[in-house]
Amino acid sequence: MSAHYEPVIGLEIHAVLETQSKMFCDCPVVDSTHGKPNSAVCPVCAGMPGMLPVLNQAAVEYALRVALALGCEINETSVFERKSYFYPDLPKGFQISQYQHPLAVNGRLTVETSSGPIEVRIRRVHLEEDTGKLTHIEKDGERYSLVDLNRSGVPLLEIVTEPDMHSVEAVRNTAYAIRNILRYVDVNNGNLEKGLLRIEPNISIRAVGSQELNTRVEVKNLNSFRSLERATEYELARQEDLVEGGGVVVQQTLGWDDGRGTTEPQRSKEFAEDYRYFPEPDLPPLVVEPAWVERVRGELPELPHDKKARFMKDYGLSEYDAGVLTAERAVADFFDGTLSKAEQADAKQAANWVSGALFNLMNEANLEVADLKFGPAEMAQLLDMLANDKINAAAGRTVLAELFAKGGEPTAIVEALGLAQIGDADELRSLVNEAIENNPEQVNEYLDGNESVVNWLFGQVMRATGGKASPATVKSELESALAAKAAARVAHED
Ligand code: ADP
Ligand code: MG
Ligand code: ZN
Repeated sequence: MSAHYEPVIGLEIHAVLETQSKMFCDCPVVDSTHGKPNSAVCPVCAGMPGMLPVLNQAAVEYALRVALALGCEINETSVFERKSYFYPDLPKGFQISQYQHPLAVNGRLTVETSSGPIEVRIRRVHLEEDTGKLTHIEKDGERYSLVDLNRSGVPLLEIVTEPDMHSVEAVRNTAYAIRNILRYVDVNNGNLEKGLLRIEPNISIRAVGSQELNTRVEVKNLNSFRSLERATEYELARQEDLVEGGGVVVQQTLGWDDGRGTTEPQRSKEFAEDYRYFPEPDLPPLVVEPAWVERVRGELPELPHDKKARFMKDYGLSEYDAGVLTAERAVADFFDGTLSKAEQADAKQAANWVSGALFNLMNEANLEVADLKFGPAEMAQLLDMLANDKINAAAGRTVLAELFAKGGEPTAIVEALGLAQIGDADELRSLVNEAIENNPEQVNEYLDGNESVVNWLFGQVMRATGGKASPATVKSELESALAAKAAARVAHED
């Protein structure tokens, strides 16, 4: 994007509410990648005539958690409406959604970016039901579409932001921040690939300095954060080229083609008036009593933003470390647990080990905290052994790798693998002297001014102990032994 234009982007996010049962019937909510097609369907979610919807209270409760976590005002009365359109994945011919009177409005979210925090306003949060799923196949030269209604009637939460994002980074970080909140309040696992979370950016550009909202496009079919970024970048560049060439942006819905890396026009979207919204006659208005709202608010967990502030204040962590350790609730809980169990280890050391060595192991194996074979107690024990100089950093990484692979007790692993650190100064002094006696040539080189030889000698001593020596002790013993040699040579030359 050239310096003349500014991106203007708002997000529409659909999150499946992972309740036990569907929005208006008691069919189970099943993952689209599991379960046989049409195995979780009843006359209500199959759209049979005369069937009556019954609102799932848990879905409302889940929606309240998200809306409150996003700082929204809850409308005491909200209304379900029929959004009519014809499509083979929509058996009733309409979707039950909220339109004029949504569950919640006017929220806000603080999002970190490399140029400082931004405020993203949340316009509305409303409840609706999901549609079925179509699979297009070709058999014997004929093309068919298969309909699976397992997803039909699954509770969905729609979150709409104001167009407050002005860079690709802001879009990415806002999407992650909303995903993290959904995960924190335990309503959705944030999986884009499985379609549990769908993020659609609305994108326009304007001249820098202008406050105009220009014509925008909406991009669908983004099934990863990577695609969200690529599609946004692509679309911004396309609009700029178009406008620079004297063209105009047409309002339309585009699909992202991940293979080709381009956006493509989709079936033209019906205009809002074509949906013929009207209140759903089979459902009363949804009334959420203030006491219910306050109960849910009181039960909210500590949210990422507050947790991060606490990690900085109470643990003295840098903003970066605090951000990394609180992005996921499970990681933050693991970290809190580790520090509460550790006796010697401090927060900075724990932060380095968790976000460094442990995250590396988890990333390589593509595992999450929930998959670990050990818990905060073991992590604390390992960190305490490091803090007490019972083991050195190299041994610590070995112990961590062992815990990661098999679980167990750090103290027992140190014992079994003979990793205890040799910190005894007398023992290390004699090894240092040995290294000096055995390598007179290198020692002379050092005395002639080649200081890097110290590192080489250090390596010799460490190797002699199988890497178990206390590096600090070896270093200081080596320095004093070499200083003594230098003094002896000066005395000799005199
Ligand atoms: P509709 O109701 O037709 O879907 P809305 O005005 O509700 O349209 O906006 C839908 C989404 O588009 C919101 O996320 C909003 O922030 C975003 N949006 C609105 N206008 C613009 C614009 N000019 N450029 C980028 N995004 C926009
Ligand atoms: Mg919309
Ligand atoms: Zn059903």
